[in-house]
Amino acid sequence: MRLRIYFMKIICIARNYREHARELNNPLPKSAVFFIKPDTALLKNGRDFYIPEFSNNIHFEAEIVLKISRVGKYIQPEFAHRYFEQISLGIDFTARDLQNELKKMGYPWEMAKAFDGAAVTGEFFDKNQFGLSQLNFCLKKNGQMVQEGNTADMIYDFSKIIAEASKFFTLKTGDLIMTGTPAGVGQVNSGDVLTGFIEQQKIFEVSIK
Ligand code: ZN
Repeated sequence: MRLRIYFMKIICIARNYREHARELNNPLPKSAVFFIKPDTALLKNGRDFYIPEFSNNIHFEAEIVLKISRVGKYIQPEFAHRYFEQISLGIDFTARDLQNELKKMGYPWEMAKAFDGAAVTGEFFDKNQFGLSQLNFCLKKNGQMVQEGNTADMIYDFSKIIAEASKFFTLKTGDLIMTGTPAGVGQVNSGDVLTGFIEQQKIFEVSIK
């Protein structure tokens, strides 16, 4: 058996779609706000998601995911496109009840966002297959449309996200960036099936246990 040691991080941007910030009554931040999920949060396409015992309100947040393809720090927006070749769709699972408690106390969100299985990623595709600046994506729960987004509605576009994030965190090959969720986030229950699409293409399916 060959062991592959693989370290990576998942950088997420908060409140990158106005309508989503509004639905949670969150003010828009003056500058980009990031948080990180560790590699143990990764739930690959096809695996089941188990609702953790510490939450009664797990929310889905469908987000376009970028896969970083080279190392970079202080990347200028005009060169940011050179730092990713593939995109996917994923879910930033959030223990909303726990997050609200932590926010109220002024504590970091980490436990509500970075727990095991909290970062779903689908299959990755060549970014050149898509028109990145006006990309449609959506999430269905049990076949019903729950979230519809278009990357044209992002406050920080992919280039700006990479530029801003790389001021704080060195981007390494294999890192993922979750680029924010549009309106329509909601709760999952055991037995639900979430399916994600970019344009017409199915990107992932996750069953909730
Ligand atoms: Zn999110």
